[in-house]
Amino acid sequence: MRPRLLDYVRALPEEDLPAYVYDLVALRKHAQAIRAALPAWVEVYYAAKANPDARLLAALRDHVDGFEVASAGELRHVRELFPGTPIAFGGPGKTAADLNYALHAGVQRLHVESVQELHLLATLLGGRTAEILLRVNAPIATGPAPLVMGGVPSPFGLDPGDLDHCLHLIAAQPQIRLCGLHLHLASGMDAPAQLALAGDILAWTSERDLPLSEINIGGGMAVDYNDPDRLFDWRDFGAGLEKILIDHPGTTLRIEPGRSISAYCGSYITRVLDIKRSHGQAFAVLAGGTHHLRTPAARGHDQPFRTIPIDNWPWPWPRPTATGEPVTLVGQLCTPKDVLARDVHIERLRAGDYVAFAMAGAYAWNISHHAFLMHPAPGFHYLDEA
Ligand SMILES: *Cc1c(COP(=O)(O)O)cnc(C)c1O
Repeated sequence: MRPRLLDYVRALPEEDLPAYVYDLVALRKHAQAIRAALPAWVEVYYAAKANPDARLLAALRDHVDGFEVASAGELRHVRELFPGTPIAFGGPGKTAADLNYALHAGVQRLHVESVQELHLLATLLGGRTAEILLRVNAPIATGPAPLVMGGVPSPFGLDPGDLDHCLHLIAAQPQIRLCGLHLHLASGMDAPAQLALAGDILAWTSERDLPLSEINIGGGMAVDYNDPDRLFDWRDFGAGLEKILIDHPGTTLRIEPGRSISAYCGSYITRVLDIKRSHGQAFAVLAGGTHHLRTPAARGHDQPFRTIPIDNWPWPWPRPTATGEPVTLVGQLCTPKDVLARDVHIERLRAGDYVAFAMAGAYAWNISHHAFLMHPAPGFHYLDEA
């Protein structure tokens, strides 16, 4: 945690917790570094579903080429915030209303994921045109990854056996322009694995021998919740892409990372309500919980955190304390699944201390089950000066 952020967090009054703090300065710096590490002809679209917070999107806008949205709701949100910014709209299960809105809202790229969707789009065009990518679940092995959506049976994208049929439909429909292919096959891969996959994708797409200028290889660049300092190696990735693309002149490569861009800028700050021992184990009960920060429950990991000692203890009785022992950090929900970090060795933690969970800027607040138990929502803070 950089000193300015730590000062900010320490100064938050306890009645303002739990709270999310987004470090927009760090976010801009991170996005700039990613942009600088990549060749100029690699386009970066931020996947809004990782975190669509309006101020976070505004901080990113000048450092990405566009935004990828996965629903008409995200599309409306991003379009209203940034009328001129390029948007790519993907995702399975688009309704006629979704497609109509996409045509109306001026989406730059529509990712078509099935034969049915292509038919539906064609009937909705009226006098309008659509520039599309076909998302294909290509027969490419991704290797092990935390989330695999391609190269195996999945509801995402076209089966490669449907590709020719789609090409025929598009050939008969001059208002649909096929710009390229989209292959988001897996999530959570490090730079060498992503590079190998990018190479396989470009080899597979060029074998199709189609007059396509764009390949979108998706997002999924890994973050390591066990080691917040171990970042995806964007420089290696950029240098590797440069080499791969020598064999594919004229191709625009697009990536659409979400988690690896915004995860690091978010912290979830809370305070210890109680420390108790149960059958020999220490539990710290925190304000809030997984209904605010579902990431550790969803992924089954310990959310990285640091403790922030608060010396003020206003009560006349002994302060509940855990010292030099494994502690399980839980929230206020009445379910044993409300665990943010399990059996983590802690030097000292007391009721009233603050706890700052790191890497809470992606798939955190926005994937959480806010309504469960009707606890109040957290506050949202933005650190916007160095
Ligand atoms: C979710 C998603 C992304 C972003 O994935 P991250 O793991 O957040 O980088 C990009 N493209 C598609 C199609 C997605 O579904």
